[in-house]
Amino acid sequence: ISRKWRVNPTLIDLGNGVVIGEGNFSIMAGPCSIESERQIELVVEHLKANNVKIMRGGVFKPRSSPYAFRGMGLEGLRMFHQLCSQNGIKIITEVMQVSQIEDMIDYVDVFQVGARNSQNFNLLDSLGEAQKPVLLKRGISGTLEELLQAAEYIFSNGNEKIMLCERGIRSYENAYRNVLDLNAVPVLKAKTHLPVIVDPSHGIGLRDHVEPMSLAAVMAGADGVIYETHQKPEEAFSDGQQTVNFQESERLIKRMRQAFALR
Ligand code: PEP
Ligand code: MN
Repeated sequence: ISRKWRVNPTLIDLGNGVVIGEGNFSIMAGPCSIESERQIELVVEHLKANNVKIMRGGVFKPRSSPYAFRGMGLEGLRMFHQLCSQNGIKIITEVMQVSQIEDMIDYVDVFQVGARNSQNFNLLDSLGEAQKPVLLKRGISGTLEELLQAAEYIFSNGNEKIMLCERGIRSYENAYRNVLDLNAVPVLKAKTHLPVIVDPSHGIGLRDHVEPMSLAAVMAGADGVIYETHQKPEEAFSDGQQTVNFQESERLIKRMRQAFALR
């Protein structure tokens, strides 16, 4: 995945004119967790109104506590897929283990590998064989070299449709959830031909500050952002504290597009 090996940037075509990579700015938005049919409908409506083509939403959730909401599973994914495909929206959702790939593959457009699974090498090998686009997140305390080597696991199995995602790293600072390492964007872009995506929601963990960090990500050279939005963030089943409402999301989308045009 080194730039030394391939100079031209990798473009990932999800079909219906949705292409991720250099020259495009991809917006992926949606709730942390898929919660209900109504919720999906409301998010889809919001995304369509703003010409956003990719919806995020977890159905298998890696929660810090096993007693927290752990997602709607395959039933939720089928519902998610049905509503999105009817509306021309692509789906990105997290896969947590190898055995889920087969069950999920027909319902997803992009597999997300979460920070906690960033070095699950069996999962990465299997996703390399699966031939679906993958968004690979940086580990909670992962170095960029570790992220690049993790991507190499997928790539070396024959799947070149990989995006790297900076989602914040752990530090001593506890004023916010993580430290969004925007240094990673230009450094990764110089090292690899793969698209680089930023997740400002997990990166800072505070909804009021998602917008400035998203705009900073655009100017740092990111190929896209993935962030959390919900019709009522205070009532979200997970990550409500870092989730923006639709009004804030709409403003964010407009401002990111303006910023990208200035780049
Ligand atoms: C998520 O996207 O909701 C998520 C769990 O992200 P991360 O793996 O970056 O914590
Ligand atoms: Mn989340």
